[in-house]
Amino acid sequence: MSSSFTPFNRILMGPGPSNVNPKVLQALSKPALGHLDPQFIGLMDEIKDLLRYTFKTENEATFVLSGPGSLGMEACLVNLIHPGDKVIVCVGGYFANRMTQIVEKIGGNLVTVKETWGRAIDPENLEHSLKQNPDTKVVAFVHAETSTGALSDIKTLSGIAHKYGAFVIADTVTSLGAVEVRIDEWKIDAAYSCSQKGLACVAGMSPITFSQHAVEFIKNRKIPVQSWFNDLNLLLSYWNGPGKRAYHHTAPSNQFYGLHEALLLLKEEGIENSWQRHKENSVKLILRLKELGLEPLVPENERIPNLLTIKIPHGVDELKVRTELLNKHNLEIGAGLGELAGKVWRIGLMGYNSNEKMIDYCIGAFKDVLK
Ligand SMILES: *Cc1c(COP(=O)(O)O)cnc(C)c1O
Repeated sequence: MSSSFTPFNRILMGPGPSNVNPKVLQALSKPALGHLDPQFIGLMDEIKDLLRYTFKTENEATFVLSGPGSLGMEACLVNLIHPGDKVIVCVGGYFANRMTQIVEKIGGNLVTVKETWGRAIDPENLEHSLKQNPDTKVVAFVHAETSTGALSDIKTLSGIAHKYGAFVIADTVTSLGAVEVRIDEWKIDAAYSCSQKGLACVAGMSPITFSQHAVEFIKNRKIPVQSWFNDLNLLLSYWNGPGKRAYHHTAPSNQFYGLHEALLLLKEEGIENSWQRHKENSVKLILRLKELGLEPLVPENERIPNLLTIKIPHGVDELKVRTELLNKHNLEIGAGLGELAGKVWRIGLMGYNSNEKMIDYCIGAFKDVLK
């Protein structure tokens, strides 16, 4: 006989998901609502407002896709790229690589600006590439490259891309909520995120925002968007306008209650305070890790505060350490991805987990396992 599933109560300090505020977990278990129920439409409108606060934007087309961050990545790219369009992707890690795979699948003419894994994208390299490719339609980059721990200056990158008349797509999957993001001020045309990293909710939702300029372009495309689910024109028929909402897909109502609660908690704290908290706790964790002889991969002014990559010391069996942290201390941290597999650990201090208690716990566990 099987019985109800009871998950371990893990301490999640990897690259996401991280532990979720109990208030958010409670919100998830409230009664379901239909996806066109007037009360649910009201909730959707509140989520849109809360997301505009979080993204720092006035964009009307700001909403949530019912799927993980990768769905948002595909949505931004597929709506703004026609087959044959020249697209520059700045690649300094695994997630920007995923962007290039999507660009190729939808028939974009891909140009990459390569960066060393573990470093912020060099704006001069983007400028150089745009000079050689002045016909570029879209420039895409990752703000916080979770695979390497490097944070890029997307304000500067966006400014350069606009000088050459390109649309700008930014991945804010790990940064949104934990690191300064200003969609309007930085003139980002399309951005996407996820629910389980900087926003500290459960996985499976992708907040997304499009500028008015991008929406106009998408409405007037000559070749229709090459995706049914992710066609912004269809999605907006469900998400936009007072009253006249049309069924597009069955939105996961309980998931949305959780996201609403997570966004509300963030607004109650004040988003600038959240950015500050993540920065301060990151500095504290790095200092304590250094005392144990553990060194960060990324230079100080290029680090993602809520996701640190730590170099694995010479002669240490990295898998054994992670296994012991999990089995003995109930603590999950992340392994290296792609080029950095076997070379780094990834430690997340996100949302509900970004506090001194978690820092103490993590340091205590590392001390025990490394001795
Ligand atoms: C996690 C992540 C993604 C993918 O998000 P999923 O929710 O796992 O689909 C995309 N970009 C970055 C930078 C990420 O960290």
